[in-house]
Amino acid sequence: MSTPLYSWGRFPHRPQRGHGCVWLDELPAQMDRVIGAHRSSLPYGNGRSYGDSCLAASDEVLHMRSLDRLIEADWTTGVIKAEAGITLAEVLAVAIPQGWFLPVTPGTQFATLGGAIANDVHGKNHHVRGTFGRHVLGFGLLRHGEPEVTCSPDAHPDLFAASIGGLGLTGVIHWAQIQLMPIRASQIDTTTVRFANLAEFFALSTELDARHEYSVAWVDCLAKGAETGRGVFIVGDHAQYGSLDVGQRKKLSVPLTPPVSLINKISLSAFNSLYWRLHPSQRKPGRSAYEPFFYPLDRILHWNRIYGRRGFQQYQCVVPAANAEAAMGELLRTIAEAGQGSFLAVLKRCGDMASPGLLSFPMEGTSLALDFAQSEALEKVLFPRLDDIVRAAGGRLYPAKDAHMTGADFRRAYPAWEQLETLRDPSLMSRFWSRVIL
Ligand SMILES: Cc1cc2nc3c(=O)[nH]c(=O)nc-3n(C[C@H](O)[C@H](O)[C@H](O)COP(=O)(O)OP(=O)(O)OC[C@H]3O[C@@H](n4cnc5c(N)ncnc54)[C@H](O)[C@@H]3O)c2cc1C
Repeated sequence: MSTPLYSWGRFPHRPQRGHGCVWLDELPAQMDRVIGAHRSSLPYGNGRSYGDSCLAASDEVLHMRSLDRLIEADWTTGVIKAEAGITLAEVLAVAIPQGWFLPVTPGTQFATLGGAIANDVHGKNHHVRGTFGRHVLGFGLLRHGEPEVTCSPDAHPDLFAASIGGLGLTGVIHWAQIQLMPIRASQIDTTTVRFANLAEFFALSTELDARHEYSVAWVDCLAKGAETGRGVFIVGDHAQYGSLDVGQRKKLSVPLTPPVSLINKISLSAFNSLYWRLHPSQRKPGRSAYEPFFYPLDRILHWNRIYGRRGFQQYQCVVPAANAEAAMGELLRTIAEAGQGSFLAVLKRCGDMASPGLLSFPMEGTSLALDFAQSEALEKVLFPRLDDIVRAAGGRLYPAKDAHMTGADFRRAYPAWEQLETLRDPSLMSRFWSRVIL
């Protein structure tokens, strides 16, 4: 019996049985076997989605992680083709020494190429480069009982668009070709400054985003009153000189799952205040290796265990620009009042670059993301209040992080869901999709 697979938040607690294969040409037969025996399945990358979008309705997933080979690389153009189970860390390990970097990366390098496409992930440079899907040149898609198709903006454009942000429902992506971005050094030149409230965040973002490749802010989710929305603003750019070193940071690990969450209001409040005060009140330049800049949480393996056996949920929303400042204020006041949240709460302005994907999450506006230890009150009291604010502001939640959104909210916020449903491989079904659609 293989080790059960979960989503990153470990909520809902639905252990998945993984069915992997070693070689690409074994995939069609494996898909036949699993779907034949269990009626439906779902591709699973590396389980870095928080909620139930990577969980199969049948709890039997096609585990893609062992298909992790680089197939082709042209280091003069930066175009690479790889099997879909390769992680972003594995791509970076070969690309950086050649002077190339991922054009878009999420906050974990342990996502797979297939998972990055299926959630159309975004990163700290959304305002200049849009989502991951914009840099995908093509991919191979396998639908149950059909011959493999190659999808690109010109070949099967409907399946191409539906599979980018398609939540693994249109077929199994088994290889993909992407365009990388040239770099001269793997280090990042940074500028850091703390801000006293939400208005200062928006002022900094308006001034600095256009001038820098990367921009993101940490926010103190428990700060109240005049300090609501205080935080630390960080911008960065790839250094113009330095080495092309690949990250070799020694990883720490949380060895076991405690019975209850180690995050509580007292520890969080003390930590947040200290963290805010430790950052400079004047803009401070610095230089960082790429790993701590992009992937601070990846340093601690299994950090998701600190939330205890009940797991946790991430709440990530985006609100359109016109309503962003007011809505973010309301959201943060509501969270601070509830005294819940996580040390890592992230505010980020998203840009206006359209994604090729049908169901992409980002929109021009502001995104807020933070984790909450799982509890009944969360779903009954706090999340409905936050959902009301997001709905009224015309925003939406991110399926990759979600385990609670109502079907009505999903269908309102993602009107293209019907097109995706038409193109869905009928043999693929996730717990998320069955929750919001069926
Ligand atoms: C610490 C941390 C930070 C994060 N930061 C960000 C961020 O900044 N921005 C962001 O956008 N996301 C972020 N995420 C979310 C994460 O990047 C996405 O959920 C990503 O899709 C996970 O990839 P995965 O390979 O683990 O896929 P999984 O979580 O296993 O699956 C994700 C989806 O992809 C589908 N899928 C997987 N492989 C394939 C395939 N080969 N073919 C077709 N479908 C497939 C699955 O069915 C599922 O619907 C973060 C996650 C963590 C843990």
